[in-house]
Amino acid sequence: MAQAINQPQVVVDLYPLFAAASLGDFSKDVNIPQQENEFIPLYVGVQVMVDVIREKIAELEQANRDVSLQLNKTFSQLTSIGEGIVTLDEEGVIRFLNPAGEKLLGLSDGEYLGRKWVDAVPLETETGEVIESQLRPFEDSAAFSSEGFIGNHLYYRRKDESRFPVTTTVSPLFFEGNRTGHIIAFRDISRELQLEQLKDDFLSIAAHELRTPLSTMRWTMESLMKLSQEDLPEAVRPKIKDLYNNNLILISLVNDILSVSRLSEQKIEDSKIIFDAKESIEEIVKELEMDAQQKKVQVKIEVKEGSATQLQMDKRHVGQVLRNLISNAIKYSFENGEVLISINQDTQNRQLCFEVIDKGMGIPQADKPHIYKRFFRGSNVSNSQILGTGLGLFVVKSYVDHWRGRLSFTSEEGKGTTFHLCLPQKIDAT
Ligand code: ADP
Repeated sequence: MAQAINQPQVVVDLYPLFAAASLGDFSKDVNIPQQENEFIPLYVGVQVMVDVIREKIAELEQANRDVSLQLNKTFSQLTSIGEGIVTLDEEGVIRFLNPAGEKLLGLSDGEYLGRKWVDAVPLETETGEVIESQLRPFEDSAAFSSEGFIGNHLYYRRKDESRFPVTTTVSPLFFEGNRTGHIIAFRDISRELQLEQLKDDFLSIAAHELRTPLSTMRWTMESLMKLSQEDLPEAVRPKIKDLYNNNLILISLVNDILSVSRLSEQKIEDSKIIFDAKESIEEIVKELEMDAQQKKVQVKIEVKEGSATQLQMDKRHVGQVLRNLISNAIKYSFENGEVLISINQDTQNRQLCFEVIDKGMGIPQADKPHIYKRFFRGSNVSNSQILGTGLGLFVVKSYVDHWRGRLSFTSEEGKGTTFHLCLPQKIDAT
């Protein structure tokens, strides 16, 4: 006959608790014996352990509730907002598209889930040129601008072949420190473009109408300034000069507005001729001599040894670009400052590069992303006496993008600014 095994009392007491715990049930308490014995610390220890585990479970349950609440909130926001939201995994495969996105693109879930975003939704330029998938890894507007697409609105093509102009914002998605994909928010900007068009048309008509009277005023004032002392009292002369200068500012504003409206309509007429960029710069510096003298700013031109300085481009438009950069360098210099214009031929890339360096006011860090926008003026200059329209750099950037050149700047507030410009130097062999 098998002999009954006598279990120690401590095992008998704790066994039910461990058995329940192994099934995830921590509701049982330890029955601590009344009489003193050597296992009391073990009983107490197990009870403390059970209490700590219960506390941790309660905390986890609370965290779980918070996360689901947050998830529900985020999900309902994603499904109810007007912007299209798409999440992509690292391979660019669509994992989620909200109802607004489905509506904008005319897609239903069976048609996009598991497909690559770039295949499901073609992106193209205003003229219908399809943007290749390797140029749109994250639909980032910064990536497009470096490829020369800036100023050119981008369109998403729908399944039914219709299309809409789009603006996108992209953010990377991270999980435990690793990038797991991207989230793209996109919006139809047809209405904004219509309004922009109306504004451009209005500005362009107004500028056209202003040009003739302003030019007539300029000629009249020029002939007044040529009058002899008997015909024009000395006291009046400075006043006419003042009027003349203000008239020149208005003419340049009107010209800037007209350039901007031509640029936004993509009406750039380039007539290419071969000319010497160094000579153009010398002419511009001469034109700006008065401004430089007033601020006692010295302007130097430097050509890197061995550089051929010819360009085969539209001389007038290149002049407009260089004039804007040089006049800004003078305008935003401190008194007694120095401006250096250096020219350097990059034979490898067949480009002619320019640097326009000043040691003036510089551009505040927060303003740097906006500097090429229309009508934008830096926070450090907009309240100053220095006149400007905030259109010059927009014109510069638009031309440079049109020519597929390069434009960048480095600047430190209070220390100075350097603009770097490279233009294609294609001189046909004759
Ligand atoms: P603006 O007519 O105001 O000069 P721009 O479009 O030429 O317009 O320039 C836009 C803004 O960029 C300027 O208002 C100024 O704040 C900043 N900026 C441009 N060039 C310089 C420079 N060389 N130094 C400092 N700020 C500059």
